[in-house]
Amino acid sequence: MTSSNVKEIDDLIKIISRLPGLGPKSAKRIVLKLIKSREELIKPLTNTLAQVYKNVVRCKICGNLKSMNLNCSCSSKKYDQICVVENIADMFTIQSTGIYNGSYHILGGVLPSFEGKNSESSLLIGSLVDRVKKNSIKEVILATSASIEGETTAHYISDSLKKNTKTKVTRLAKGVPVGGEIEHLDDGTLFSAFKNRTLIVND
Ligand SMILES: [Zn+2]
Repeated sequence: MTSSNVKEIDDLIKIISRLPGLGPKSAKRIVLKLIKSREELIKPLTNTLAQVYKNVVRCKICGNLKSMNLNCSCSSKKYDQICVVENIADMFTIQSTGIYNGSYHILGGVLPSFEGKNSESSLLIGSLVDRVKKNSIKEVILATSASIEGETTAHYISDSLKKNTKTKVTRLAKGVPVGGEIEHLDDGTLFSAFKNRTLIVND
């Protein structure tokens, strides 16, 4: 990578090239564009980034992002279905298909495939059980990926729900390729996986 001889610029290029989908070349183009548009881009970007850094937090109830001073939609909206996903990108993908209008629960990861339960609290599984009880949720749709970790997590969540609630628990149909992440599914596959979701029965 050629250097610009200006430390600030090189630092910025290094940071921007760490963003998804960007390499050093595109990072350099972005930085040049920024520098050319100090007032129109750098200034508002600096302010907006500072606001996001200061005010955007993870909701401790549903795992979604929220504005620090506002109530999350999970505590203000009425809903009787919750769809459990691994991350926000998966939620965006499901939202874009328009097939589902209920609430979401964002785990922020999966359980390791071995019996490790330390990560249970950061995945907000206890909070999911509370949400189901408090809102008399009729159905929890497990939309974790078809990887071993995704399956382990789905199984663990379904057990916790069955032990503590009477809600119906379903899982996306097996059209999801093994190891396939929801985020990378095409709309058609996701649509049919959702439509043909299967009931998880107690074993
Ligand atoms: Zn929330």
